Amino acid sequence: MQVIISMNAPKHRVVYHKAGCIYERRIKCENRMSISKEEAEKKRYCECKYCAGLRGEMRAHAAEIRYWKKKGMAEICYDGNADTAYVTTKLGAWKIMENRFGKYYLHHLNHFTEDMPISQIKDGEYHRQADVKPTDSFCKIIHYIIDHDKAKVIMKDDFRKLPQSTKKQKKYYKQAERKAALKQRRRIDHLFALLESEAPEMKQFSIC
Ligand SMILES: [Zn+2]
Repeated sequence: MQVIISMNAPKHRVVYHKAGCIYERRIKCENRMSISKEEAEKKRYCECKYCAGLRGEMRAHAAEIRYWKKKGMAEICYDGNADTAYVTTKLGAWKIMENRFGKYYLHHLNHFTEDMPISQIKDGEYHRQADVKPTDSFCKIIHYIIDHDKAKVIMKDDFRKLPQSTKKQKKYYKQAERKAALKQRRRIDHLFALLESEAPEMKQFSIC
């Protein structure tokens, strides 16, 4: 991740900011410099207290957060006590936390219903979203969630319409294909169970 510093800052107290931080925007253009976060840490620059961590992401990305909410794509609620960001969409709920290396990782709520109150979302059981590697990009995680929803909508209609251009998309396609086959098998099992309960002689036609 790139961070912003002021070249005008006294050598012993250089502070680095996320792009979008109000203090970053106060740095004059001619003094502004973008460097990698790793480099800033190596040089022992101080992280700005205002835009650091998850709380800082909420501040630095306030405009995007408002946009995602307005467009009905995702709603983000930050819990300062747990230092956790809860993200809800029409189809699911997620939570983002920060690990000890300053990277964000994602959990997905196991059971979600629309109009679930936030208290229930906070108390729910989650699983780690294993295909999202810890990242220092908060926005990348939100875009993953939004794309996940889009894919879910397509799958409800027909999984064969899912994109298959990238390696990851191909992997998801295969997963969806397996899920669809399993669903089909379950339907057949259910159908046989139903038929057998009405007419026991149907058992001879059962394949399993
Ligand atoms: Zn800052």
